[in-house]
Amino acid sequence: MELEEFLKSTVEKNKPLMAKGHVATYIPELAKVDPNLLGAAIVTPEGKVISAGDDKVKFAIESISKTVVLALALLDNGEEEVFKHMHKEPSGDAFNSIVKLETKADHLPRNPYINPGAIMTTSLIKGSSPDEKFNRILSFMQKIAEDDSLDLATETYLSEKATGDINRALAYYMKGQGVFSANVDDTLDVYFRQCSINVTAISLGKIAGFFARGGVLTNGERVIPERYAQIVVGLIATCGMYDQSGEFLDNIGFPGKSGVGGGILCPLSSKKIGIAVFGPAIDKEGNSTGGMGILKDLSDKLNYDMF
Ligand code: GLN
Repeated sequence: MELEEFLKSTVEKNKPLMAKGHVATYIPELAKVDPNLLGAAIVTPEGKVISAGDDKVKFAIESISKTVVLALALLDNGEEEVFKHMHKEPSGDAFNSIVKLETKADHLPRNPYINPGAIMTTSLIKGSSPDEKFNRILSFMQKIAEDDSLDLATETYLSEKATGDINRALAYYMKGQGVFSANVDDTLDVYFRQCSINVTAISLGKIAGFFARGGVLTNGERVIPERYAQIVVGLIATCGMYDQSGEFLDNIGFPGKSGVGGGILCPLSSKKIGIAVFGPAIDKEGNSTGGMGILKDLSDKLNYDMF
């Protein structure tokens, strides 16, 4: 079966799985999203896009932004500096957990893909104001997605800002322990905005392709050193699905980074292929149920499993 046909049929086949999940409700704006949406995109090494289902529906990137902001923080500061502020280890806890910040002696976030680590990463982005920092993040994301239409979902941003007290608690905890030197409100303002950037399965697939190609655009332009792409993807494999990261890697065999907006980004570096899925019905860990079903089928049928 042609890849296009296969993708279409697997999107249809996995629709029932969405009933096993629910849209995120702790951010009120996300609770309004239609839980029945499901889409997927594959970007070939040459940059050709194959997509199916609700592939052009805009949704909030949420935690997947953490990968893009890590790449920019690495460009801004270098690897050594960034990892003075966080580790590269899976946490085994929920994405917004405070537990390991308290129990680990150095009080540093375990990795950049859980909320405390991502808030720390955002604080490392260069810029003289929250606006400048956010605009740098948005432009960088547009560049690597090769899509200028990515924009801010203002209602989602305001909704996150109004309800983001756990994130404030994480940042103030780090500040109280003396490991976070930036202004908390300003940093969270940027963080809430980066999480509220609108993407589609197609634009997310292109970001996955960018990381899978080691940090080059489809025209061959290198945007980040290959080493930074390795860091971004390696941490996606070990820490991208929160406390489901081990099971996801075993079951599906792709590096996967999820967001509570329902997206999952999979950069398959060994094949230079980018895959993204979108299904806003998520499980208790915060990962798209239908999206994971599609990824399982792709991994089984197409021999894309990295192992
Ligand atoms: N903006 C969300 C939050 O900070 C992102 C969480 C996620 O996608 N897992 O809670």
